[in-house]
Amino acid sequence: MNLNATLINLYHVCPRECWLHANGINMEHTSDTVYDGKLLHETSYPQRADKYTEIELSANWNGATLSGKIDFYDQKEKTIHETKRGKSVEEAHTWQVKFYIWLLELNGVEGAMGKIEYPRLRKTTEVFLTGPDRAFLEETVPNIRELVQREKCPPTINARICKKCSYYELCYIDEA
Ligand code: SF4
Repeated sequence: MNLNATLINLYHVCPRECWLHANGINMEHTSDTVYDGKLLHETSYPQRADKYTEIELSANWNGATLSGKIDFYDQKEKTIHETKRGKSVEEAHTWQVKFYIWLLELNGVEGAMGKIEYPRLRKTTEVFLTGPDRAFLEETVPNIRELVQREKCPPTINARICKKCSYYELCYIDEA
């Protein structure tokens, strides 16, 4: 199976969302969000679009195909630039970037780092991949594979984030 950064991100947000996305149940809004992030970067930092490179990476790891597309990569500084629209710094964003750093490593690029920019918060967080992070990702990949191959969709999580999720109606239609 192909495991990408979106699945890593969603796995940290909600296992059910991860399963739905991996099983081809995509709401329009989900793909808009990805596009939205790129657009946000281009409009917030217009000069950077010329400076950075878009790269697609893949690697075979323990029987899984890992892939990711980094929209803005500074090859000279070995830095991944991500931009997020939200009003809070989220762990899922960090794991998405750590996954990219790991993918770079698996492609022979050592010492990369990431910067996640939150224009609304006027904040930038730096992301590095530590030994325990790498071990955690190595554990996470088989866990995601097991999760998405389940026949049944995992249960709803009844969290605050559900109201902002593109699957909200699908998940809670019976309760409406
Ligand atoms: S609405 Fe909630 S339970 Fe349903 S997929 Fe989204 S985050 Fe998960």
